[in-house]
Amino acid sequence: MRVEAIELRQLRLPFTEAMRASYGSHSEKVCILATVYTDGGHGYGECSAFADPFYTEESVDTAWLVMNRYLAPALLGTNMSDPASVSTLFSQVRGHYMAKAGLEAAVWDAYAKTRGCSLASLVGGAKKEVETGISLGLYETQEALLQRVFAALDAGYVRIKVKIAPGQDISVLSAIRSTFGDISLSADANGVYKLADLPHLRELDTFGLQMIEQPLAFDDLLDHARLAQHLDTPICLDESIRSVKDGETAIALGACRVMCIKYGRVGGLTEARSLLKTCAQNGIGAWCGGMYETGVGRLATIALASHDAITLPGDISPSSRYFDEDIIDPPVTFSRPGRIAVPEGLGLGTTLRVDVVEQCTVLRTYYAV
Ligand code: MG
Repeated sequence: MRVEAIELRQLRLPFTEAMRASYGSHSEKVCILATVYTDGGHGYGECSAFADPFYTEESVDTAWLVMNRYLAPALLGTNMSDPASVSTLFSQVRGHYMAKAGLEAAVWDAYAKTRGCSLASLVGGAKKEVETGISLGLYETQEALLQRVFAALDAGYVRIKVKIAPGQDISVLSAIRSTFGDISLSADANGVYKLADLPHLRELDTFGLQMIEQPLAFDDLLDHARLAQHLDTPICLDESIRSVKDGETAIALGACRVMCIKYGRVGGLTEARSLLKTCAQNGIGAWCGGMYETGVGRLATIALASHDAITLPGDISPSSRYFDEDIIDPPVTFSRPGRIAVPEGLGLGTTLRVDVVEQCTVLRTYYAV
């Protein structure tokens, strides 16, 4: 498969409501849509870096620079027999995982189409449907959050996850438990606590959470391992894991019992698939998280979530949770309450809404051999 042209578009899509977490708030999804044209067709990939470097070091601006200056030139004109070789092409560039993943995912989509199969059948493929939970952000009032929890349970989501932060943790979880009883519940701190908060974090054990996600800093595996020795609640690592190597280190230290897998955060679908194998081999729970992606990134995540090493429901909502109009047709919807069917069509199994893409494009570059 020969890469003959690459188009990069920076998109801005308004969210249906602002997404708030301990690292900041977003009212729109800013992302980079990569289209890779090959001698056999074309594929789409999404770079899911946020607008600001508050979740990871990457932002849309850094990804745009790295994709245009280094990654697209490295990929253009290459001949490959397997998308797994893209990571070798990009290996000279250190870090910039989400920038790499956007282009790598486009190559995977193109490759699946060339092979005449779905992306899911290549990177996952064990499940026909994926179970989905919802990730709810920080809200101004507890009443607003409880309303969202009620609506999510009513819609059939099989697990509720809430973002927590100091001052919005014990009270929030307590209100959810007393209102909704024994629902499947987890909490995501996005790295906002410190090991010195141990006595406070131990109080979270009383809520019977499925897991606490990324309680401590993204670069502190050692303290996560120390914390894990004192908590009954399983620790899930998200921001800390950028590679199989990170995953192996975390497992060796006993820093987590669960991992959240995001193809963007680990540099692509190839690494994400390897990480899932590592989880399975070590008895580590795994699920797929998201970055509030458009339908293109969402479908890549759904393909990955069909892997048999996935043991827990993911954060994979229908498109309407985030956007009035998604950039794909049809949008992602529930196949039945709390479940999303894994597309069986070619590649991602979708058509791009060219009208919506044009409308929300703010920057565009194009390279051809
Ligand atoms: Mg998280």
